[in-house]
Amino acid sequence: MKEIVIISGKGGTGKSSICAAIAYLAKAELVVADCDVDAADLHLILHPENSKVQDFYSGVLAEIDPGKCSACGLCYQKCRFDAIEPFEGTYRVIDLECEGCGYCYYICPEDAISLIDQNVGKFLISDTRYGCSLVHAHLKIGADNSGKLVAKVKSEAKAIAKVQDKPYILADGSPGIGCPVIASLAGADYVILVTESSKSGLSDLKRVQELVAKFQIPSACIVNKADINPSVTNDIHKYLNKSKVQHLGDIPYADDFHKAIAMGRSLIEENEARWLPIFTEYWQTIKENI
Ligand code: SF4
Ligand code: SF4
Repeated sequence: MKEIVIISGKGGTGKSSICAAIAYLAKAELVVADCDVDAADLHLILHPENSKVQDFYSGVLAEIDPGKCSACGLCYQKCRFDAIEPFEGTYRVIDLECEGCGYCYYICPEDAISLIDQNVGKFLISDTRYGCSLVHAHLKIGADNSGKLVAKVKSEAKAIAKVQDKPYILADGSPGIGCPVIASLAGADYVILVTESSKSGLSDLKRVQELVAKFQIPSACIVNKADINPSVTNDIHKYLNKSKVQHLGDIPYADDFHKAIAMGRSLIEENEARWLPIFTEYWQTIKENI
C-alpha cells in the first residue's frame, strides 16, 4: 500500500480541489484521508454519509477538587504557566492556561488535583458518494494537538485500506510547514506539492519542499494559475528542475475551481471534457513514479 500526500506551502492554491479530482478519478483504488484537520473541507465535495464517529482524546488538564483542597496555595505559587487562581476560598485551574504539565498534581499534599484526559475533537470514518471511504476529523475550536489527530486519521486510513485491499491512500495535508504537515508527511511514499504562480507561492513552495527533502520523500509539483504570472512560473520551473522535483504540469487560471467547490463537486464533475484528460495523465504519472 502506498501513501500519497498532497500539500501546499500556503492556503488557497487549489490543493483540496486537486485532491478531490484525483479522488474522483481513482475512487476504486484508494482510501481518502483529510489531514487538514484545522480546516477540513473535502467533505464539502465527497459528501460523507454513514459516518462512524469517535471522540479523540489528547493531552490532559489539571482539575482541583475543592472538597479535598486545604487552600495551602502551593500549586498557585508553583504553576509556571499562571494557570491556577484563588476561587471561593480554595483554588481552581484556568483551563485555557493549563499546559497539562502535571507538576501541580505531583506536589499537592492533599491529592486534590487530578489530570483529566482532554477531548480535543472527533474523527470520522465515512462512506462517500464516490464509493471510497473517507477518514476525516473535526478539531475543537482552540484545541491543540492537531498533529496527533492527523497521525490518528492516517493510521485509521491505513487500517481501512488494508481491510478493503486498496493499493493507495490519498491524504489531503494542511497548508504550511507546521506540526500537522510534519504528521502528514510521516510515512508518506510520494508527495504532490501544489503551488500557484506568485512570489509568495514560490517562496512557500521552497519552504515546504525543504521539509519534504528532509524526509527524503520523492515529490512532484502542480503549478496552479500558471498563466497569471509567466515570469514567476518560469522561476518555479527552474526551481523544480534544480531541486529534482518532478513537474507534473501547469494549470491555467480557471473559474471551475470556485464553481466546483460552490456546487460541492469535483473539477471533473464540473467540466469533464476539460479536466478528465488532465487528471488522467497526472494519475498515470503518479502511479508510474511512486
Ligand atoms: S496544592 Fe493542593 S491543597 Fe494546596 S492549594 Fe493546590 S489543590 Fe489545594
Ligand atoms: S498541570 Fe501544569 S500548567 Fe496545568 S495547572 Fe498544573 S502546574 Fe499549571
